[in-house]
Amino acid sequence: ARKLVEVRDLKMHFPIYGGILRRQIGAVKAVDGVSFDIFEGETLGIVGESGCGKSTCGRAVLRLYEATAGSITIDGTDIATLSQEALRKRRPAMQMVFQDPQASLNPRMTVAGIIGEPLDEHTNWNRAKKLERIYELMDAVGLNRDFANRYPHAFSGGQRQRIGIARALALNPKFIVCDEPIAALDVSIQAQVVNLLEELQEQFGLTYMFISHDLSMVRHIADRVAVMYLGVIVELAPVQDLYDHPQHPYTEALLSAVPEPDPSAEVRKDRIVLRGDVPSPSNPPKGCNFCTRCPKVMDICREIAPETLEVRPGHFAACHLHTHDQTAG
Ligand code: SF4
Ligand code: MG
Repeated sequence: ARKLVEVRDLKMHFPIYGGILRRQIGAVKAVDGVSFDIFEGETLGIVGESGCGKSTCGRAVLRLYEATAGSITIDGTDIATLSQEALRKRRPAMQMVFQDPQASLNPRMTVAGIIGEPLDEHTNWNRAKKLERIYELMDAVGLNRDFANRYPHAFSGGQRQRIGIARALALNPKFIVCDEPIAALDVSIQAQVVNLLEELQEQFGLTYMFISHDLSMVRHIADRVAVMYLGVIVELAPVQDLYDHPQHPYTEALLSAVPEPDPSAEVRKDRIVLRGDVPSPSNPPKGCNFCTRCPKVMDICREIAPETLEVRPGHFAACHLHTHDQTAG
C-alpha cells in the first residue's frame, strides 16, 4: 500500500518556567524523537500507559500542537512547515476523534450544528445542501435523523461519540487520529463504537492512527502497533507478530498483564510486575528510557540509548538485548 503518513524524529517538548524571572528551567519531553509510517487504509495502533506521550504525539501529527522538532508528511504534504492558512486548507483531509465526547461537543449547539460546523467553515454550501450532508453523516454513524435538532446532553456517551465521529467525517477526510475514542464509554458499548470505526474505515477508505491504553482493543482493530514508553517508541510491529513475539521487555510486561483470551492456550504468560514508577518526562534516565524498571537491564542500558533495529520482518525494537550478548555483560 501507499505510504500516507510519514513521521520522522518528532519531538514535542513543553517548556518549564521557574524562578523569579520565569526563565525556562527545563522541558517536559512528552514526545522525544518518534518515527513511523502509516500506510493508506491501515490502522496503526499506538499503545502505552497514561503519560507515555501517545496523545501528545497524535495531536502533534495533526499540528494541533506545534512540534518542537521533526518532520510530518501527510499525503505528500510537509505538514510541519505549512503556513496557518495552508494548514487550514489541508485540515479537511486530516481529522481527530477525541476521547471524551462530552467535553469535545459544544453543549449549546444542536447535533446538526455540531456535525455541520466543519461544512460552515470549509464550504459555501447552502442550507439545503448542508442539511442533506448532515443527514447522510447521521445515517453513516447510525444516528436517527429525528435527533438532528437535539442537544448533546440528550444523548448517551456512545451516541455522543457517534456525533463526534460524524463531525470528523464531514469533509471526507483521508486520515483520522482516534485518541482513546472508547476509553470514556461503558464497556458494553465500546465494541459497538470500535465496530463502527472499522465499518467506516472500510466504507470510506480511511486511514487511522488509533491511540489506546487497551491492548485487547488495539489487537482487535490495528494492523500494526507501536508501543510507547516515556516519549519514545520502543517497539513497532504487525499486530499478530507483536502479540506473539514481543521483542522488547516493556512490551512483554504490558502483554503479560492482558488477560489471555483463550484460558486453555498452551503458552500461558506469567505476569511480569514492573517495579517503581515511570520516571518524569522532564528528567528521563540516561541511556535507555526503560532502564530504571527493566527486569533485563544491563550496564550498557544505563549509558547508551538503544538504536531501533528491524529484528524480525517489519518488526522494529529499540533494546540492547538485540545487539549485546547478555553473558558478556
Ligand atoms: Fe531493558 Fe536494556 Fe533493553 Fe532498555 S535496552 S529495554 S534497559 S534490556
Ligand atoms: Mg482495520
